[in-house]
Amino acid sequence: MRLYGQPNSPEAYALRDFLNRSVVEFDWVELTCDADCDNELGLPSLENVRLPVVELPSGERMFAPTVREVAERLGWVTQPRFKDYDLSIYGAGPAGLSAAVYAASEGLRTVLVERQAIGGQAGTSSLIENYMGFPQGIRGAELAERARQQAVKFGIEILLMREGVKSEFRNNHIYTEMADGGKMSAKANICATGIEYRRLDLPNENQFLNLGVFYGAGASEAPFCLNEHVFVIGGGNSAGQATMHFSRYATKVTMVIRGDNLATTLSHYLVKRISESEKIEVLFHSEVTGLDGDKGLRQIEISDRRNGTKQIFETQRLFVCIGGVPNTEWAKDTSIIRDAAGYLVTGSDLLKNGQPPRCWTLERDPFFLETSVAGSFAAGDVRHNSIKRVASAAGEGAMAVAFVHKYLEESA
Ligand SMILES: Cc1cc2nc3c(=O)[nH]c(=O)nc-3n(C[C@H](O)[C@H](O)[C@H](O)COP(=O)(O)OP(=O)(O)OC[C@H]3O[C@@H](n4cnc5c(N)ncnc54)[C@H](O)[C@@H]3O)c2cc1C
Repeated sequence: MRLYGQPNSPEAYALRDFLNRSVVEFDWVELTCDADCDNELGLPSLENVRLPVVELPSGERMFAPTVREVAERLGWVTQPRFKDYDLSIYGAGPAGLSAAVYAASEGLRTVLVERQAIGGQAGTSSLIENYMGFPQGIRGAELAERARQQAVKFGIEILLMREGVKSEFRNNHIYTEMADGGKMSAKANICATGIEYRRLDLPNENQFLNLGVFYGAGASEAPFCLNEHVFVIGGGNSAGQATMHFSRYATKVTMVIRGDNLATTLSHYLVKRISESEKIEVLFHSEVTGLDGDKGLRQIEISDRRNGTKQIFETQRLFVCIGGVPNTEWAKDTSIIRDAAGYLVTGSDLLKNGQPPRCWTLERDPFFLETSVAGSFAAGDVRHNSIKRVASAAGEGAMAVAFVHKYLEESA
């Protein structure tokens, strides 16, 4: 595939990000003037072309398509095969993918529903170095693609570009309304919807969204940072990884963190590499308090949290890696208990003085990954008290399937 577009186009970024996370090989062709347009597309004037353009291997061109339209054209958006499933899994990050592999391999009629690209947060990681079995590390999108292939081999049904927005539990079933108006039902479900990136909450942030301000590690953007000074906000592992990755391309990478050291939030190996790199600078006690530019980001303001001193830096790219909030809006009208931050509470965390909550309907206590609704499980980052790691999310996905079997046996 070839993708043609103008530099700093948010629409082109969205497509690049999606294709990159979906491990689709494509060439990115930047068009900056009419001559480029003529040479590359055979069309005389940039102004009259609806960009970006996606060119499929067959030569067919799609003009200004949405991500969904491209996914549809690739045959990835399909209708559910069944009316009712043994198990529905929401979210195809490491937790959902792992649950899918085990559920499908163990014979459950399972559907995996994902609203964007396969891989979740992990799919945006340039290199996961601490996942067992990959001594040289593995690109997050590649790990996710391998898991997808494995789940498909066992017969999983995957519905992409579909989002569960509302759920109801009755007759030992979960009934879910989808954003596109469709409906799904299953005897049990695993919520593996992970977290959504937190934003900076600056007044003109939307103006620069994907036009210089990127949420997450922006793995697809690294090659465009050649000879640039880029900024990464955040002191966690995802920010550290992104910093290391960008430093291979950019002239300089500045990490902006609120705290006074990296060791409390970052894995030891990343602290070591960051402090050893001559290209990386860390601004402690700092936060980004202003964004400025025209068609794209040009400047950011960074304030020192100790004394309020402000400094202006020229940059065209700012990557915001400051964690996120759980995707659990769908649960707000159900009996599923969420903690104050919105994470799904499971297992013994639901017990107060040894007693399950009032809404709990069974004699036994909730299983370890079971929510306050019997048969509805949570796995991975979306779960209260979860460990935010690929391995733990994958482990919980596998465990959740074991509990689903127990639940289905007892409710048969
Ligand atoms: C850049 C980056 C680098 C990282 N590097 C590492 C690392 O090196 N090692 C490590 O161990 N961990 C790393 N992590 C953390 C790790 O990726 C996460 O802990 C892990 O991805 C959590 O998996 P998950 O399946 O629980 O959720 P997620 O990965 O967040 O996946 C959730 C999925 O659910 C989908 N979804 C949300 N709502 C809905 C809905 N209503 N309907 C359908 N689908 C929905 C989302 O689109 C998403 O695909 C990194 C994270 C980031 C962001």
